Amino acid sequence: MAQAQRITPRAQDFSEWYNDVIMQAELADYSPVRGCMVIRPLGYRIWELMQRALDDMFAATGHRNAYFPVFIPMSFLAKEAEHVEGFAKEVALVTHTRLKATGKTGAGAVAVDPSSALDEPLVVRPTSETIIYAMFAKWIQSYRDLPLLLNQWCNVVRWELRTRLFLRTTEFLWQEGHTAHATEGEAEAEARLILGIYRNFAEEWMAMPVLTGVKTDSEKFAGALRTYAIEALMQDNKGLQAGTTHNLGQNFAKAFEVKYQTAAGALEHVWNTSWGVSTRLVGGLIMTHSDDNGLIAPPKLAPVQAVIVPIWKTDQERSQVSGVGDQLKAALSKAGIRVELDLRDNLKPGAKYFEWEAKGVPLRLEIGPRDVAAGQVVAARRTGGKSPLRLEGIVAAAPAALQEIQAGLFATAKQRREEHSLRGATKQQFLEFMKGSGGFAYAGFCGGGECEAAIKAATGATIRVLPDPEFRSPEAPKTCLWCGEPSVAEAVWAQAY
Ligand SMILES: [Zn+2]
Repeated sequence: MAQAQRITPRAQDFSEWYNDVIMQAELADYSPVRGCMVIRPLGYRIWELMQRALDDMFAATGHRNAYFPVFIPMSFLAKEAEHVEGFAKEVALVTHTRLKATGKTGAGAVAVDPSSALDEPLVVRPTSETIIYAMFAKWIQSYRDLPLLLNQWCNVVRWELRTRLFLRTTEFLWQEGHTAHATEGEAEAEARLILGIYRNFAEEWMAMPVLTGVKTDSEKFAGALRTYAIEALMQDNKGLQAGTTHNLGQNFAKAFEVKYQTAAGALEHVWNTSWGVSTRLVGGLIMTHSDDNGLIAPPKLAPVQAVIVPIWKTDQERSQVSGVGDQLKAALSKAGIRVELDLRDNLKPGAKYFEWEAKGVPLRLEIGPRDVAAGQVVAARRTGGKSPLRLEGIVAAAPAALQEIQAGLFATAKQRREEHSLRGATKQQFLEFMKGSGGFAYAGFCGGGECEAAIKAATGATIRVLPDPEFRSPEAPKTCLWCGEPSVAEAVWAQAY
C-alpha cells in the first residue's frame, strides 16, 4: 500500500475511478467466485457502523431482530405469483446434498452423488418474505399478537452476471424487516415510518441527500401493493436506489394463510410490510463523496475519524513527537473519536498522508517538533483546508471539526444534486439532458406504462420515484412529458444503477 498507485480521475472514467477508489482504500476485492465480492476489513467496518446506527433506530421503534434459514423450499416461492415472477430468473438452487470421490485425480476427483438428490430443491434466499410469513402463520393467532415487528441481518443471493463491487453482486449483506399488522392503515404507517428512518440515516449519517417517494408499478417490488424508496444522485449524475420499503397488502398473508382473530371474533388476514437496505449503501457513500485522491468517508461512518501523523528526523525528535502523539491519541480516544497514531518507521510522512487520504480519514493531525514546541498540531481536513489546532482544547476542537466536515459533505452533495436537477423541461430539453450530463429530471407523467417504457428505450432513464410533496415542483406539471396527455403525477426520472 506504500506505493503511489494512480486513481483514474472521475472525469476520465467514472466506473474505473470507482473501482480504483475501492481497491486503493482496500474496501473490497473480487472473489474467485464470479459475481461475488470479498469485503475487506475497512469496508466491513463501514458496514458495521451503518448496521449499528440503523439497528438502534429499528430497536427504538419497537423492532426486534431474529434469524431465519438461508434455505427456502422451492414450493414457497411459487405461492405468491408476482413474487416468483420477479425472482425466478436469479435464484440459486440447492439440488443435492453430497459429493462422492470418483477415484480419479485432479478436478474430477469429486462428483455430485446422484443418490443425494433432494426431493424438493431448496432456494438460497433472494429475500425472505416466503419463509418468514410461513412462520408468521404459526405465531400469529389473535389481534393481541399484532403488530409483529421483526428484522433480520443476513446475506442474500441473487444471481448476477455483471458485478459492480457493493452495487451489484450475487451475494450481498442486508437487513430485511418484516412486519404484520391488523389494518392496512397500520401497514402503510409502518412502510412510511421506515422510509423516514432510511432517509434520516442517509442524510444524518451518510451525508447523502435523498428524495423520497413511491415507485410506479413497473418499478415496485414483486408482490407488493406499493413500494417506497429513497433515491440519491451520484457524482456521475446517475440515480441510486438506496433503500426500499414495501406495503405488501395482504398478498403474502393470503398466500401463506397468515390470519388473526379480531377483537370481535372474526378471522382476518394480516397486512404485511417488508423493507431493506444493503451493502449497496457503501457504494452510495463512495460515489457521493469521494474524489480523485480516493475515499472520503463522512465522519460519522469513518472507521478512522482522525489519524495522528508525527513527523521526525532524529531519534530524539521521534521520541518527543510520538510521546505527544500517544497522549493525544489517548485524549481523543477518551472523547469518543476513532483515532489512529501512525508511528511506522518505513514510510515518510508524505506517503502516510497519501495512504490515509485514499482511505478517507476525515481529519489528519500532523505533529512535528516545532508544533510540539508551539503547543499545537496542524489539522488537515480530507475535504480541504489546513490549520493549526491548539493541543490545549483539542478534545473539543476535533469533534467540532468532524461535525463541520460532516455538515459540509451533506451541503456539497445537496448542492450538486440540485445543480443537476431539471424541472419543467420540454420533451426536447429532457432528451438533451439525458443525453448530456444527466441527473434528476422532474416532469409530468400520464401514468401510462407505455410512456415509461418508451422513455426508457429512448434514454435509459426510469422513473426513480413519484416524489413526496416536499420534493415536488412549486407548480405541478400539467401534461405528460412524453405523450402530452394530462399529467396524473410529477415523476423524477434518471438513468440509474
Ligand atoms: Zn404519457
